[in-house]
Amino acid sequence: MRDIAHLIAGGAGSAAARHGDVYDPNEGTIQARVALGGKTELDRAVAAAKAAQPGWAATNPQRRARVMFAFKALVEREMDALARLLSSEHGKVVADARGDIQRGLEVIEYCCVAPHLLKGEFTHGAGPGIDVWSMRLPIGIGAGVTPFNFPAMIPRWLFGPALTAGNAFILKPSERDPSVPVRLAELMLEAGLPQGVLQVVHGDKEMVDAILDHPGIAGVSFVGSSDIAHHVYRRGTAAGKRVQAMGGAKNHGIVMPDADLDQVVNDLAGAAFGSAGERCMALPVVVPVGEETAERLRDKLIPAIDALRVGVSTDPDAHYGPVVNAAHRAKIEQWIQTGVDDGAELVVDGRGFALQGHEEGFFIGPSLFDRVTPDMASYREEIFGPVLQIVRARDFEEAVALPSRHQYGNGVAIFTRNGHAAREFAARVEVGMVGINVPIPVPVAYHSFGGWKRSGFGDHNQHGMDGIRFWTRTKTVTGRWPDGTASDDSAFVIPTMA
Ligand code: NAD
Repeated sequence: MRDIAHLIAGGAGSAAARHGDVYDPNEGTIQARVALGGKTELDRAVAAAKAAQPGWAATNPQRRARVMFAFKALVEREMDALARLLSSEHGKVVADARGDIQRGLEVIEYCCVAPHLLKGEFTHGAGPGIDVWSMRLPIGIGAGVTPFNFPAMIPRWLFGPALTAGNAFILKPSERDPSVPVRLAELMLEAGLPQGVLQVVHGDKEMVDAILDHPGIAGVSFVGSSDIAHHVYRRGTAAGKRVQAMGGAKNHGIVMPDADLDQVVNDLAGAAFGSAGERCMALPVVVPVGEETAERLRDKLIPAIDALRVGVSTDPDAHYGPVVNAAHRAKIEQWIQTGVDDGAELVVDGRGFALQGHEEGFFIGPSLFDRVTPDMASYREEIFGPVLQIVRARDFEEAVALPSRHQYGNGVAIFTRNGHAAREFAARVEVGMVGINVPIPVPVAYHSFGGWKRSGFGDHNQHGMDGIRFWTRTKTVTGRWPDGTASDDSAFVIPTMA
């Protein structure tokens, strides 16, 4: 059995007392076991980070950027091996795993302009002989806790900007697919990052709570489900840390009567069922506006869903592979049953799907619900599986209100040819990321990623300038170089610019 160990101070560390199982979702078997650590391992990692961070912070930003350049080349060299490893633990198809790796690399490319991102501000002559400048300085030691669904992209959303800014960073990846995060950290060391600056600790709630309570850690970035994001935000901020915590989602796709329905159906197939729906930017709810749009859309969706091919994650023709584990599949099937019990119309039922030759794999077929209403639990909660729900809206106003009133506010899309409607929608909808004829509006790396309401706790988004802001603190210096002429100004009155 392959063992996945912590990466502390450049080494694996001592044998773990507790372990978690890492599955092969294609076959339903255990393929590795991962160490589950706690306070003891974290203390060692924090000590190593503390020793390494000042030297890294003193390394000039251009040299730090060179490590990012070298890392990018190494990841590109290992793209195929990383994609296969990722796919073998997560279950997403290999082409999609490459996308996961590439999107994270785009954050690293952004970090390659570290000297520019970290430039402060300067005012010459703010007063007589007075200059003012602000510096962007690292916060010290940062930690990140990441979900299973993007094991290559999301760790780099966090450690890219954190390291660029001169911090040391401790990553706690999902215990369900931890191998790629470890490999990425190893490649950072190979790229020239000093030991102790980036470390990986594994674990579950015990390790996460140890991170939240640790006095040596100044900031925590979390990505995962909303209840845990909220817990992380409250416990981390109570311990005096800065915390950003991204949560779950229930993204809506609004289909206006003038939309190109063939294009919409094509987009929805990928956005609702790609990666078996295990994406926080998936589109699991479609909102046709008007009964006629709803009927036309439904007629086109059914054959498109019937044509989806579910297969092992290494099958180049598969549209999507298995979900991450048996418990998650059972949860998805339970949500489908809840939808039926609540009175929604189950048009396509993906339950009970078995792939020939891989009967023990965690596969589930695609499902389609129609006539889902906002009061249903299966609409209010995140399912995170290959299940698409049609919620019919009377008019544009109702279509704006549905995602706006939902507890989650991660992403939303509108499909229309009407520029005015799209513009109004984008301005008014209470959601953090909006797509106009773009089904999965994940912002490019130099903009920032983040949802509203229960999809995001904290003040800063991921990557882009917000990522740099989160991982730095500002120091502002006001300097005066008097010309030697004695001044009789009173020192008892607050200086002003009056
Ligand atoms: P999860 O919340 O179960 O786990 C996320 C992390 O929290 C993992 O590292 C896990 O070990 C840790 N954790 C689990 N239970 C914990 C507990 N009780 N206390 C402290 N830490 C705990 O999420 P997941 O199932 O790995 O990922 C899927 C979820 O993540 C979905 O809800 C999805 O929408 C969300 N997600 C959100 C974003 C975003 O940017 N908003 C991106 C990707 C995924």
